[in-house]
Amino acid sequence: VPFDEQRPGIQEKDGKLLYGCVEAGGTKFLCAVGRPGQPWLDRIRIATGAPDPTMDATIAFFKAAQARHGPMAAIGIASFGPLQLDPGAPDWGALQRTPKKGWSGVSPAAILRAIFAIPVGLDTDVNAAAMAEAAEMEKGDHSTLVYITVGTGIGGGAVINGLPLHGFRHPEMGHIIPPRHPLDQDFPGVCPHHGACTEGLASGPAILARWGQKLSDLAADHPAHGIVAWYLAHLAVAVIGMLSPKWIVLGGGVMNTPGLLPRVRAQAARFNAGYFAENADVAEIIQGSALGQEAGLIGALLLARRAAGQAR
Ligand code: ZN
Repeated sequence: VPFDEQRPGIQEKDGKLLYGCVEAGGTKFLCAVGRPGQPWLDRIRIATGAPDPTMDATIAFFKAAQARHGPMAAIGIASFGPLQLDPGAPDWGALQRTPKKGWSGVSPAAILRAIFAIPVGLDTDVNAAAMAEAAEMEKGDHSTLVYITVGTGIGGGAVINGLPLHGFRHPEMGHIIPPRHPLDQDFPGVCPHHGACTEGLASGPAILARWGQKLSDLAADHPAHGIVAWYLAHLAVAVIGMLSPKWIVLGGGVMNTPGLLPRVRAQAARFNAGYFAENADVAEIIQGSALGQEAGLIGALLLARRAAGQAR
């Protein structure tokens, strides 16, 4: 069955299968159960505390959901990271060196696989969101799309020819070091590893550290808007140079700032300088999120379907 006949809402050969989905974040675990192309049957938001109570609440939710709706075929997890994604590694699924207290070395995926004894699909939250946005924008086409979230951090995931990109580990696009904006020469940046990488200069915490307010609370003519757009546009053009994606989708809380997306597109067109394509076409590659806050959870459902052998 071609992949594009398996997308949510279209001729589901697995249309009766029930999946568990988790978007695991440092602030919250969003859990849901549902079937492709249908509204969620159950969902819950669990505040991320210590690993044991957080995983206990997650397990209790899925047990109750199975009692109500029947057995799940697989679980998909879209997780914060860094993550061990090598399926052959003894610590598969484990969070690596995360600043989130107590979570380093914990593998929610391995815990859920052991408890429920069903396949578990796992990827980064941004790779999962990239899968979901690609399925939404390309209707299941084997597309190449990059998803970048701009919020507490800056993270990027990629779908290459319809499959999430992995290699040594997974992409960490926010930690690329951009040229400094002319009006932003002195701020040291907030990344604990690199200082002035893109995340260190343009994430929510970097904006707060520099200007004391959220970007959306600063006046529309405040220079912060142009400075943040500059860094995001440099990231977008770097990604175009490396991967030539059909789309770059920008999501996350900072992107809700009115006017930011058009500024990023205009800057990216300028940085392109007529090279990769017509400047207007480069701006067109950069899009807002079609799925918004649902992208991670829908991506988790796509991961669950792959784990269950229902999608390539
Ligand atoms: Zn960094």
